[in-house]
Amino acid sequence: MRYIITKLRNKGSCVMNKNNQRQLAPIIIQGALPVESERMASKLDDVLIETIGGWKFWKGTYHGYPMIISKTRMGMSNSAAATAIAILRYHPIAIINQGTSGGHDPQLNVYDIILGKYAINIGAFKTPSKCIEAGSNSLEWVEAFDVLPEDETDPEPIAIRRFEADSKLLAVAHRIQHLYTKGKVVEGTIGSADVWNSELDRIHFFYKHYATSIEEMEAASVAQIASQFNIPFMGIRVVSNNITNGGTYDAGTGEACQDFVLEVAEQYMSEQ
Ligand code: SAH
Repeated sequence: MRYIITKLRNKGSCVMNKNNQRQLAPIIIQGALPVESERMASKLDDVLIETIGGWKFWKGTYHGYPMIISKTRMGMSNSAAATAIAILRYHPIAIINQGTSGGHDPQLNVYDIILGKYAINIGAFKTPSKCIEAGSNSLEWVEAFDVLPEDETDPEPIAIRRFEADSKLLAVAHRIQHLYTKGKVVEGTIGSADVWNSELDRIHFFYKHYATSIEEMEAASVAQIASQFNIPFMGIRVVSNNITNGGTYDAGTGEACQDFVLEVAEQYMSEQ
């Protein structure tokens, strides 16, 4: 197994403050891509970079609070693996998955932020049966797969499983949402899959049947793993593109989201 640890820099001394912040378990903040993680990493003090397999973690402090920034890489498998590794290695107090996303709700504009009250997997379905050459129509895929069924001896597709955000993380994010000035901050449902949907009918299907606010490729996968370890979790996503209202992709959203999420994480840690 490839395992690299790099001592990057030491911007300040490891002083214990009066709240013994350094003794808290860390909070993990994930971003899939460099544009969704490196800005946060650059703001940490006392940084160690740890590379485990294909996954990079920056271990440090932010305003005295222990934090791990994790670059999960894109998609459901990468983010699940990065989450499991991080949980076992860092024993986090909580996990926030954040980054860019595509709007499903036409009311959402580029730079708006969605606090993921729910995260759902919009890539797990059982299709109807069709004969050869009968074609394929994803708008007929109405049987969603619950990948964590109660009875695993005979799993049947049932209504889609919703992973609910940790109530404390959600409350903290609401309490400081006024600090975000580049768009509105609203609660919503994050839909995740290893698919980038650009078919408006398909997007409308998810919005109508599952009330998805946005789509991306990681949050529900991370929520699924966090739930198996009972780690508090929430997804926070910025709208970087929204074809339902003509919102074109803006990479600056990734940085805006990181800044807001760092504030959420700091506030959460200050309340431990
Ligand atoms: N730079 C790319 C965007 C990133 S690719 C571009 O040129 O558009 C996919 C990554 O962005 C995934 O990690 C996913 O979580 C996120 N993402 C942003 N918008 C998305 C969308 N509309 N659908 C799916 N994933 C999206």
